[in-house]
Amino acid sequence: MKLDVVILGGGAAGLWLLDELTRTGYDALLLESAKLGTGQTIASQGIIHGGLKYTLRGMLTGSAANIREMPGIWRDCLAGRRQPNLSRTQVRSGHCYLWRTESLSSRIGMIGARVGLRVAPTRLDQNEIPSLLANCAGTVARLDEQVISPASFLADLGNRQRDRILQIDSHGGAEFHFQQPGNVSAVRLHSPIGHCSVMNGTSDQPRAELELNPAVVVFAAGAGNARLREEVGLAVPQMQRRPLHMVLVRGDLPSFNGHCVDGAGTRVTITSDVDSQGRTVWQLGGQIAEQGVASDAPSLIEFAFRELATILPSLDLRGVECTTYRVDRAERITPNGVRPESVQIVREGNCLTAWPTKLALAPELSRQVLEQIKTCCTATESELLASEAETLSQWPRPEVALPPWETATQWTAFEDVRPSESTHKKAA
Ligand SMILES: Cc1cc2nc3c(=O)[nH]c(=O)nc-3n(C[C@H](O)[C@H](O)[C@H](O)COP(=O)(O)OP(=O)(O)OC[C@H]3O[C@@H](n4cnc5c(N)ncnc54)[C@H](O)[C@@H]3O)c2cc1C
Repeated sequence: MKLDVVILGGGAAGLWLLDELTRTGYDALLLESAKLGTGQTIASQGIIHGGLKYTLRGMLTGSAANIREMPGIWRDCLAGRRQPNLSRTQVRSGHCYLWRTESLSSRIGMIGARVGLRVAPTRLDQNEIPSLLANCAGTVARLDEQVISPASFLADLGNRQRDRILQIDSHGGAEFHFQQPGNVSAVRLHSPIGHCSVMNGTSDQPRAELELNPAVVVFAAGAGNARLREEVGLAVPQMQRRPLHMVLVRGDLPSFNGHCVDGAGTRVTITSDVDSQGRTVWQLGGQIAEQGVASDAPSLIEFAFRELATILPSLDLRGVECTTYRVDRAERITPNGVRPESVQIVREGNCLTAWPTKLALAPELSRQVLEQIKTCCTATESELLASEAETLSQWPRPEVALPPWETATQWTAFEDVRPSESTHKKAA
């Protein structure tokens, strides 16, 4: 089957790109080896950053400049005013709160304005402060960065392009044929094991096969990019992983999204969702998840309860439960191992390897990949043969990955954590 583009990986990057390519008239297919969003997108906090986080030192860093147009693009897509129409994606909140633990500064309200971000924080008057933050010393501000549900975003984009997304096995599901490293002439697919009977009517028959001949191959597989690159002969490592140890808290909690800012960093970033039992779930990221990498789960849970009692003195922790999960951020390698400032794309032969660096940057990744594709491939609306259409229509489709709180099994109740001074005093 002749195609313009084959994308490997159905997270935020691959799905947004697939949508952009098909709207532009390119003939594209996406191959997913697990569930849509497995890895980073489903584990993410869903904040559509506008760059404030990167200006806490008071400078317009490269990261802030690169990301500042993203909230406007997403807002239009989420409202259905712009393509891709994401009006079925759940917006958890239209804004995040920013607060400090100590009565530091009015600086918070100035930073955004000073560096010219498109989304700047607004300092709140006492009567506008949510009750959860009422007892916090220091300035409280509101930042109009939207927070989305990553699962509903993946479902929304996945459903829009369902016909063009195929499930493959994680091992041997796609075989690459190439003459030179990175010059792929064909991708041979085998239908996933376990789906033979669906495809062929009986499980005794061999797995269905499909050979794709793409002009361009895009690796948008997050951490999976490292292995895909090896499979097409690209030996030079281009990827780094930065680990996180995230915390989940569930129970009778208010829905809340915000950053507790400490100096030039975010001490804790809280985002909220609701689990399948109707309980509120908080995801805790920021410094707690970076520093937590060195801790085991019980120590991090104990620390998380203490942190919550300190940064949110009004919060009643009685009855809530806590767990943790580990996940790596996958990015293009940088000389000192820090976060790249923006989207990263490496072009070798007819292969592009892409990392968005942030969920919020998915539209920018698509724009940049499209620019590159335009230089080597013109959109063709080729007709499928009847047999190809038949094989495609019967090929299995991937599901959306489950959020981390639906797969976590070991939850620790607040009351079961070793009594430690501040937390229990607070709850009492
Ligand atoms: C804990 C956490 C919180 C975050 N919070 C935010 C946030 O609030 N805001 C923000 O902007 N960014 C956030 N990020 C960053 C953001 O999640 C990532 O930058 C983004 O989701 C990466 O998307 P991706 O599509 O490149 O990769 P992924 O989401 O990792 O998706 C990769 C996909 O490729 C598939 N795949 C892997 N190998 C293969 C293969 N061989 N063949 C086919 N498919 C394959 C996987 O199954 C998966 O579906 C966060 C990241 C983490 C880890």
